[in-house]
Amino acid sequence: MKHTDIVDILNQPEEYLGKTAVVCGWVRTSRDSSAVAFLELSDGTCFRRLQAVIDKQAIAVDPECTKNGASVRVEGQIVKAFKGDGVEINAASVSLLGKCPPEYPIQKKRTTLEFLRSIPHLRLRTNTFNAVFRVRSVAAQAIHRYFHDNHYVYVNTPIITASDCEGAGEMFRVTTQGYDAKYASEEEYYKNDFFGQKAGLSVSGQLEGEVAAMAFSKIYTFGPSFRAENSNTTRHLAEFWHIEPEVAFAELPDIMEIAEDMIKYVIRAVLEECPDEMTFFDSFMEKGLKDKLWHVVNSKFGVVDYTDAIEILKKADVKFQYPVDWGCDIQTEHERYLTEVVFRKPVFVINYPKAIKSFYMKQNADGKTVAATDLLVPGIGEIIGCSEREADLDKLLQAMQDRKMDISSYRQYLDLRTFGSVPHSGFGLGFERFVMYVTGMENIRDVTLFPRSVGNIM
Ligand code: ATP
Ligand code: MN
Repeated sequence: MKHTDIVDILNQPEEYLGKTAVVCGWVRTSRDSSAVAFLELSDGTCFRRLQAVIDKQAIAVDPECTKNGASVRVEGQIVKAFKGDGVEINAASVSLLGKCPPEYPIQKKRTTLEFLRSIPHLRLRTNTFNAVFRVRSVAAQAIHRYFHDNHYVYVNTPIITASDCEGAGEMFRVTTQGYDAKYASEEEYYKNDFFGQKAGLSVSGQLEGEVAAMAFSKIYTFGPSFRAENSNTTRHLAEFWHIEPEVAFAELPDIMEIAEDMIKYVIRAVLEECPDEMTFFDSFMEKGLKDKLWHVVNSKFGVVDYTDAIEILKKADVKFQYPVDWGCDIQTEHERYLTEVVFRKPVFVINYPKAIKSFYMKQNADGKTVAATDLLVPGIGEIIGCSEREADLDKLLQAMQDRKMDISSYRQYLDLRTFGSVPHSGFGLGFERFVMYVTGMENIRDVTLFPRSVGNIM
């Protein structure tokens, strides 16, 4: 169908004024009287809508065309709007593409996000989701642009994997066979399976990313990760998108600088490229959002040592659900206190105790901590997990033995430390958490087309 995107008409009105155009879209709202009808049309190419004015005495219009949710094609002249300084389309003909009966669940009065979660296939036609997913798209493009412009190679790491990066039990199995009691052991059972061994969905592309970084210096991945998290929170999904740069010749302070620079670059891109969407979020989701984000772009992130963070938390005048002591994991409530109350901006917590972090993290000279950091942001908590990787073969082997890991399945990874090992670092940014942060949306299910979580695969 030959037609013009509504965004083109609204962004360059001078190009279209006085000319005839064809637009297609859905009726978002309408006002209908016996003499004239006004349709607010959205084709989803931008946040704003184009008003179509129909002189009912001059042209015949199927009454179905003015119903909320109907899809229509309008041909007419682009003219100065009667009200305001925009443009509208003076319909010369209106045709119905698809009618929309009154049981259409998206109605004018604002419905709750919770209700909209029950209709993921229709909720994208609301203002909120129109804005969320355009911001998500612009952010994704900006992330690719950032890395591309800075000489990173974009690699795609495998989704099906035999290694569980974190050594934790949160991996989904990939199998073609059902369990059969005839197998004597787990190993024998998996021998008969598709890959001849146990396989699962990747929780992170890091280990393979490190392989690529040892050839290209700077790489990043941007793909799905899967975690069988049993935690039913507003910031965890079973399937999420993960951005994982890995950089050779970079130590912890270098990778922190990269993370901060990238986050600021992408926030700025969203603020500049999505003004209407960001104004909407600022008014309806989080008052002051735009000022907050500009402030983030223009100031330094905080940095605090884990040991100091624990002292701050111990002295805090708040009753935490989980007790704090040196050596404990920092829970979401602690993360949020640090970033929302103490620093009131994004903050890197650095040098965690080695016992609560992964085997591959670089061991610090104190023998107790590792060169790892989490970036915490107000409203969410952790959005980035980051570390310098242990580049010393012996220390790495020791850390794996301490954790009773099966060293034979990490041969390739260990080879990287045997053949031309270099200091290197990387991080993982959860894309949905980042989108939550820039939009002010409070539930990760509302920044994902079809969210997957415990007991939910609609
Ligand atoms: P958390 O402590 O919040 O569960 P994590 O420490 O398990 O996160 P990492 O393994 O460090 O997470 O993963 C890197 C990043 O990926 C996190 O900082 C977060 O932004 C994102 N992430 C991790 N798990 C999930 C999940 N289940 N859903 C959405 N994003 C996630
Ligand atoms: Mn983490």
